[in-house]
Amino acid sequence: MTQETMTALTAIADEISTCTKCALHTGRTNTVPGAGDPNADILFIGEGPGFHEDKQGLPFVGRSGDYLNYLLEKIGLNREEVFITNVVKCRPPNNRDPLPDEIVACKAYLDRQIALIDPLVIATLGRFSMARYFPNARISQIHGQPRYDERRAYFPLYHPAAALRNPKLRHDMEADFRHLLEVMHEMRDKRNAATESPPIEAEHDDPEEPPQQLKLF
Ligand code: SF4
Repeated sequence: MTQETMTALTAIADEISTCTKCALHTGRTNTVPGAGDPNADILFIGEGPGFHEDKQGLPFVGRSGDYLNYLLEKIGLNREEVFITNVVKCRPPNNRDPLPDEIVACKAYLDRQIALIDPLVIATLGRFSMARYFPNARISQIHGQPRYDERRAYFPLYHPAAALRNPKLRHDMEADFRHLLEVMHEMRDKRNAATESPPIEAEHDDPEEPPQQLKLF
């Protein structure tokens, strides 16, 4: 399964590498499809590639990336154990925010990545990925407070760059990462319990004794 997922993710990355669906393709050096474990329990979604990401074709490799690595290490994880991507896969000029039409144009790639990786937790980094799951919410009010559906948890986080700009956020950021780890374990237990639940027994389950035909009268 992991190999199949890896092959499918590579195929998506190949499509992205030649994508011209929005204007961001004109200014890119490299596309940045995302990187990490195709079987990851946590999928991080940021906003868009910056200067260093565009140069290297990898997500979160500048100062924000160093800080993300630090936060992961604090909870006993590393980048190879998670998957990291962005809502847009090409760098917006001068690191401006991605525009709504660019996010829409790029959405199908992210949707397909999520379906393939099928993480226990989707952790959003910053406003634009948060808006996918928490429309109209304010990050300062909901960071660290997950929302659940039957399949996974959605966990809003500040963008690492925000915490670098404003050191007062770092305490919250570290607390949120500790909580993120707890939520990941909680979701893993839930999925394991769902997998291990015995099937509901049929009323007539003895192969030696075929079910009697219902009497209509
Ligand atoms: S940002 Fe997404 S939709 Fe736009 S050109 Fe890049 S890969 Fe294509």
